[in-house]
Amino acid sequence: MKCRVAVIGAGVVGLCSAVRIQDSLGDDLEIVIYTEDKSPNTTGDVAAGFWAPYFIQNTPTEKIIQDCVILGGTHQINDWNVNPTNVDTTFILDGCAQLVPALKGAKIIKHQVGLRPGRDFVKLELENRNVDGKIVHIIHNYGHGGCGVTLCYGCGGEVAELARVVLRNIRKSKL
Ligand SMILES: Cc1cc2nc3c(=O)[nH]c(=O)nc-3n(C[C@H](O)[C@H](O)[C@H](O)COP(=O)(O)OP(=O)(O)OC[C@H]3O[C@@H](n4cnc5c(N)ncnc54)[C@H](O)[C@@H]3O)c2cc1C
Repeated sequence: MKCRVAVIGAGVVGLCSAVRIQDSLGDDLEIVIYTEDKSPNTTGDVAAGFWAPYFIQNTPTEKIIQDCVILGGTHQINDWNVNPTNVDTTFILDGCAQLVPALKGAKIIKHQVGLRPGRDFVKLELENRNVDGKIVHIIHNYGHGGCGVTLCYGCGGEVAELARVVLRNIRKSKL
């Protein structure tokens, strides 16, 4: 019988974990992804909007700025203010215009503030939780803060290694 793996979340971290489990543990698994939102409504999609102007060094500006571009952001620990401030707005607009001068004077459609949860360390560990007398193996992989796109592939690999240990033990116990 195939072992069943549930992945919660379809952002870069969840999807990468699913892909790396699949790649490394083969086809005798049934992986199901459960999610509230998927692309384009995940944080990773927002981050990709921010990436393009920075990393694609020689791309002509008109290819980067099409109908709409997202500019951001700030990194302020313990700032819970969800209203835009003039200081932050100026910081973002000036910083982005330095990277892509064509943004100077662009029409602003709206300002939005979101809170980005983070922790000092990523929580990536195995927990064997007793749920109604049955042991459920949970691999936590969250808390990437502003680095989830960078870390998702490597963390996905560590998740796959933990899953390998769990599956080996399950199979041994069934022999
Ligand atoms: C403007 C911006 C710029 C960024 N720049 C960078 C960068 O340059 N480099 C970098 O590495 N990172 C960057 N980040 C951070 C990066 O985007 C995040 O760390 C990463 O997207 C987190 O991925 P995730 O899969 O954990 O979360 P998300 O992409 O938010 O996905 C979470 C998933 O979980 C699902 N979910 C949530 N709650 C539930 C529930 N109760 N039940 C079921 N499903 C649920 C959601 O629907 C979603 O599918 C940036 C972020 C922003 C906003």
